[in-house]
Amino acid sequence: MIVGMRFDIVTIFPGFFESVFAHGIVRRALKEGLVTVEAHDLRVYAHDRHRTVDDRPFGGGEGMVLKPEPLAEALEKQGLGTKGLGTRDVKTKVILLSAQGRLFTQAVARELARVERVVLVCGRYEGVDERVNELYCDMELSIGDYVLSGGELAAAVVVDATMRLIPGVLGNEASAEYESFGAPDSEIAAEIDADVHGVPRSQHGAGGLLDYPQYTRPAEFGGLRAPEVLMNGDHAEIRRWRREQQLRKTLKNRPELLERATLNAEDILMIEEMRRG
Ligand code: SAH
Repeated sequence: MIVGMRFDIVTIFPGFFESVFAHGIVRRALKEGLVTVEAHDLRVYAHDRHRTVDDRPFGGGEGMVLKPEPLAEALEKQGLGTKGLGTRDVKTKVILLSAQGRLFTQAVARELARVERVVLVCGRYEGVDERVNELYCDMELSIGDYVLSGGELAAAVVVDATMRLIPGVLGNEASAEYESFGAPDSEIAAEIDADVHGVPRSQHGAGGLLDYPQYTRPAEFGGLRAPEVLMNGDHAEIRRWRREQQLRKTLKNRPELLERATLNAEDILMIEEMRRG
C-alpha cells in the first residue's frame, strides 16, 4: 500500500493550481497527508533579466517554444537527472503533458497510482523543446484529442484521476473499482461475488463498461418518475436493470468500449436485442 504519494508540477503558472486542489476529495487527501502536490515556477530557472522561458522555433512557423534549459534545471533541482544516467528512482515517473502523447485513460491512472512520485511537465505556447521529452520524460500523456492552451489543466486532470485511486483517498475503498472504466472483472470477481447478496453498489462499472445512471429523491421530477425497479428493494432485479442500463449507455455513447468489455452470455443477448431496436 502506498501512502504519501507525491506530485510535482513544473509550470509557468504555479498559481493555477491553488483553487484546483482546494476542493472536495483532493483537498481532504492533501490535508490528511495521503498526497503531496507542489507546483514549481519554471521562471525561477530562467536567469536572464526578463526570466525568458521561451524562444522562436527552429525552422520557422508561428508562436514560441519552451526552451530546454529552464525545464532541465527545474527537473535537475527536483533530483531528476536525465534518463540515460540510470540514477532515476524506478518509483518516479516524469510525464510530459502533450497533445501528441499516449492517451490518458483510467488504466494509465491505475498504473500511475502505483508509483511513489509523479512529476508533470506543463507545456505552453507551441509546446516544449523535444529534447526535454527525450532526455527527461518517461511518458508523454494527452488527456484527449483536442488542443489545450497549456499543460496545466491536463496536469490537474492527471493528478485528480490518479490520486483518487490511492488507498485511503476515497471514503469507500471499493467505489473506484466499480465506476465507469472499472478494473477488469477478473481483478475484482471475488469482491463482486461477496457482494451478490447485498445491496448492489456501483459494482458493474467493472469490466470496461460505462456506469449506470443514478437517481435520488424526489421520486418524481420534471414530469419524470425515477425507475420503479430502484424503489422495490429487489436487489437481483436492480442489478439486472443496472447492467442493462450500462450496456445500453455504452452501446449508445461509446460502442467501441464493448469490444474490450468483459461480457457474459446474457449481456451479449441483451446487446443483440438493443441493436435490433
Ligand atoms: N503545437 C502543439 C500544441 C501545443 S498546446 C500540438 O499541436 O501538438 C501547448 C501545451 O498545452 C502543450 O505543450 C501541452 O503541454 C498542453 N496540451 C495541449 N493539448 C493537450 C492535451 N490534449 N493533453 C495534454 N496536454 C495538452
